[in-house]
Amino acid sequence: MEENYPRTWMEFENQFSSQAGCIDYLLKMQWPKGFVCPRCGAGDPWRTNRGLFHCSQCGIQSSVTAGTIFHRTRKPLPLWFRAMWHITGQKFGTNALGLQRVLNIGSYRTAWQWLHKLRRAMVRPGRDRLGGVVEVDETYVGGKKPGKRGRGAAGKALVGIAVEDKGEEGIGRIRLWHLENASSDSLTAFVQGIAQAGSTIRTDDWLGYNLLAETGFGHIVQPSHELKLVHRVAALLKRWLLGTYQGAVRPSHLTYYLDEYTFRFNRRTSLSRGKLFYRLVQQAMMVDPVPSHTLKGPALPFLQGMDNTNLDPIDDDRNHNI
Ligand SMILES: [Zn+2]
Repeated sequence: MEENYPRTWMEFENQFSSQAGCIDYLLKMQWPKGFVCPRCGAGDPWRTNRGLFHCSQCGIQSSVTAGTIFHRTRKPLPLWFRAMWHITGQKFGTNALGLQRVLNIGSYRTAWQWLHKLRRAMVRPGRDRLGGVVEVDETYVGGKKPGKRGRGAAGKALVGIAVEDKGEEGIGRIRLWHLENASSDSLTAFVQGIAQAGSTIRTDDWLGYNLLAETGFGHIVQPSHELKLVHRVAALLKRWLLGTYQGAVRPSHLTYYLDEYTFRFNRRTSLSRGKLFYRLVQQAMMVDPVPSHTLKGPALPFLQGMDNTNLDPIDDDRNHNI
């Protein structure tokens, strides 16, 4: 469908304060030509008063939210829409407490789970790989002591950072991965996962990047301090994890936080909040349901130990000689 989204809080409220208004929006987004029965493919079903679709051919009932993030939700859709509107309106995102307050719901746990579910919609399934010149590096997040490259460090997580260099235009899109370690297996898989074959990858002289030229990439090696784009993104990411989440991120959830950051960062220039909202709703319809029982309780203070001394994007203790 043509990108149709609210521009103001008034427009938002007019369109999404009723369950029917939300269903209509999802319906137009997913089936611009009208709902089709998922079993027999017949069109033109009738709508029950609970907002379900009853197929006049085969008789099954289906819902517009089946197989999406909103699958079997017991909460009204207007509340979900309000959550998405709030999340996309905050430049730096929101935490569960903030969302709980805005939605005025009793349960912190629900707010926490919704944030987690929506975070999974922040990666577009099958999204494009980066191209052109891509700067790549890794950085540690969490923990108090600096980590040694390639060896890992207790309480820390390694994050791969890839940034498109758009020359005069500055930073293009980014990708962030939670990496197991800084070995060449791990880093080669990272680069293959985020960059198109034939792209030019710029890294420092870490041995873990030695296989890039053999795997179909152009490879430029530069002194670490010249990799300004990745260092800038690393610093912003750490500040964001500290500021929005007070560093309370579990290692097993880190990937989803990285996805949220990527979603926001890559849309930092889309001035319209409505557009961001539209993308989030659209992607929430595309990803598989996330059953609540698969989400493991609110976060433990894994990254709590992060302090400002770790905000320097350039780790000064990198050991390149292991
Ligand atoms: Zn049917």
